[in-house]
Amino acid sequence: MTEEPDAGLARGLAELRAALGERRVLAPDDPAAGFVRDERGLLPSRPAAVLRPRSTEEVAAAVRICARHRVPVVPFAGGTGLVGGAVPLGTGRQVVLSVRGLDRIRSVDPADFALTAEAGCVLSDVQGAAEAAGLYFPLRLASEGSARLGGAVATNAGGSNVLRYGTTRELVLGLEAVLPDGRIWHGLRSLRKDNTGYDLKQLLIGSEGTLGVVTAATVRLAPYPRHRAVALLALPGLAELTGLLALAREVLADRLSALELFSRTGMELLVRQLAARDPFADPHPRYLLVEATSTRDPAALAAQLDELLAGAVERGLAADAVPALDRPQAQALWALREGLPEAEKRAGGAVKHDVGVALGSVADLVAAAEEWIARDFPGTVVNAFGHVGDGNVHVNVLGAGERAAAVSALLYRLVADRHGTVSAEHGIGVLKRDALEYTRGPLERELLRTVKRALDPLGIMNPGKLLP
Ligand code: ZN
Repeated sequence: MTEEPDAGLARGLAELRAALGERRVLAPDDPAAGFVRDERGLLPSRPAAVLRPRSTEEVAAAVRICARHRVPVVPFAGGTGLVGGAVPLGTGRQVVLSVRGLDRIRSVDPADFALTAEAGCVLSDVQGAAEAAGLYFPLRLASEGSARLGGAVATNAGGSNVLRYGTTRELVLGLEAVLPDGRIWHGLRSLRKDNTGYDLKQLLIGSEGTLGVVTAATVRLAPYPRHRAVALLALPGLAELTGLLALAREVLADRLSALELFSRTGMELLVRQLAARDPFADPHPRYLLVEATSTRDPAALAAQLDELLAGAVERGLAADAVPALDRPQAQALWALREGLPEAEKRAGGAVKHDVGVALGSVADLVAAAEEWIARDFPGTVVNAFGHVGDGNVHVNVLGAGERAAAVSALLYRLVADRHGTVSAEHGIGVLKRDALEYTRGPLERELLRTVKRALDPLGIMNPGKLLP
């Protein structure tokens, strides 16, 4: 039996109201649905309705109804994504399913070094729950005060702690999810080792809502890194970067928690747009923020960082170095790195990129990008910065105007030449969808589509995202 699409939608919405209750199925113009918006304001977004289930069972019931009536579902959590992964597309037939009502910390298990929380928990609340038990949840993002666990899992969020603790992929021990047919997969386990075939949770992590709705996760906790040592190094040029990264790893070993690069262009933006203070007397071509943490013995940690700074200057890898002597100074150094996106915004905005290459290719990529973009796009300014310890650089370009797409195409070719990725931490969503083919070949794209078809044969889970 076939039915008109809109009749299916109307019947589906009626069943959703009956299953969840009137106030849990909001019309798109309901003021209570105002939290559904696109972070970057780049896409029109008008859903057929906004669903607000409060439990895994309610999510399952809603997805079952949507599957029965072929109503596309767009999972939604914090709404802080930068690639349009959680915005409805098309002609108003897609429903947004918010997981914000699933906001319980289910358990904190110090003996397992693990915590289980629902998808709607704000990341800073998850961090707080771990801290209350004397432990540390290492997922740290600029948006952690509003980003939510389900979204972080669905997008495999990165952030400033990846160097030491890994991306979300490495932090998730188990998952609970509602599959596209409405069945619940109970995969909440706290196993450190499990060698029983395909790792199903890894399919859902980073799937951007295209394979199911994550409803809860068991995440890995770490001992709390009570002590922190931070310094800013001034580099004579990009040529010294690879050697400096290697020296930092050697001296600080597994205490190393951040290596963040930015350029003179970035420092000038910070000074001009945010009235920041340059901690160095002279201008330098590049800056590297180094952070190390430890659970005990702050004096030994500071001594190790000093050893790095002295060694770097001695070998000519750094021209100058400023260690933070106390917590406010450490925060001031971090504020420089973290202020860059805001400084770009105040300077008129930038074409943003989130590319990644192998560690040894970072300096080469940044040099090539700056040279080629300056040559082909006069009047633009490249502001390259980011998590170089992870090979992840935000090569953002100011002043591109109408040339934004051409600038991105040039950069992605340089990335592809170096066997890199067009998205290291922000995901693909809808904005980067066409860029996928620069770095994922035909066979890989075919395998991605095979997985999608196997788990979501009706194609109702976040259609139009990730895969063309
Ligand atoms: Zn970043």
